[in-house]
Amino acid sequence: MFKHMKADRKNRNFLVLLLLVVLSATYGCNSDSDTSVVNTQSSPEIKLDKIKVVTTFLPVYLFTKAVTGDVADVKILVPPGTDIHEYQGTPANVKAIATAKVLIKNGLGLEEFLADTIKNTENTKLVEIDASRGIQAIDKISPIDTTAAGEHDHDHEHQSGNPHIWLDPVLAKQQILNIRDGLIIADPGNKATYQANASAYIQKLDNLNHQFQKTLQQTPGCTFITFHDAFPYLAQRYNLKQVAVVEIPEKQLAPTDIQKVINTVKKYKVKALFSEPGLDNKLLTSISQDLQLKVQTLDSLETGDTNPEYYFKAMKANLQSLSSGCK
Ligand SMILES: [Zn+2]
Repeated sequence: MFKHMKADRKNRNFLVLLLLVVLSATYGCNSDSDTSVVNTQSSPEIKLDKIKVVTTFLPVYLFTKAVTGDVADVKILVPPGTDIHEYQGTPANVKAIATAKVLIKNGLGLEEFLADTIKNTENTKLVEIDASRGIQAIDKISPIDTTAAGEHDHDHEHQSGNPHIWLDPVLAKQQILNIRDGLIIADPGNKATYQANASAYIQKLDNLNHQFQKTLQQTPGCTFITFHDAFPYLAQRYNLKQVAVVEIPEKQLAPTDIQKVINTVKKYKVKALFSEPGLDNKLLTSISQDLQLKVQTLDSLETGDTNPEYYFKAMKANLQSLSSGCK
């Protein structure tokens, strides 16, 4: 606060000086130059009629953008393609949060970088929205067989329960409602817009949920392996079973890891192996050939397109993969 006042005073002194220079240069009391100086000073405040909202990572950005449409200025802290699970805050993040009115996070311990980053901003007026509010996190729905390579990295990843709630369309609806209600409190002037946009998106999530129900009820109890423990909520919702073998595609596989996957496949009578888009893992392919299982892709939406419609595109592709993998 003090720093801010000091800067303002400095600006004002500079302006007075500038004004004097202008006046003495033009000799007359030209009112045009007066106004132009005043306008330059006040314009940065005038253009801030949209509230500034920062979101943490892609799914939260997509949901927020769906609710705000164009009435808010929405930014994303963790660029798509960067691993949210291992993310460290940057000076640019501190800057973005420092000038924001609202910060929206997924919650459930996913955004570990956030607490320290917010502290560094000294933004005491920041409104924080936790999009997981009211959602019952489940710690261990799925059995997890950790490979030797992954054992050290994810010790505290799921301290507050598994955070991947956005991959269940029904829980995604709750996230939309949390975001909507938080935005209405922070920016009541746009209440009608937030309500209308949220309703439209929720309608689409309902349709998506029905498509998942209809398709996956044909393969009840289907057990699948993922290498990212991202789908336990989705599996539970649609009566499937995820066995997560954590961390294979990112690391070098040791022979014991391969053996572990093979054992897991046999132990759980696995129907399908799921990798992630963009990961071309030769070892995974060869394991799947040995086991005569197809490798499909499931998108955790931690990276991808920033259009809110991307959620539906990616989830429909996930449904296709699940349904063909589980056949
Ligand atoms: Zn994840």
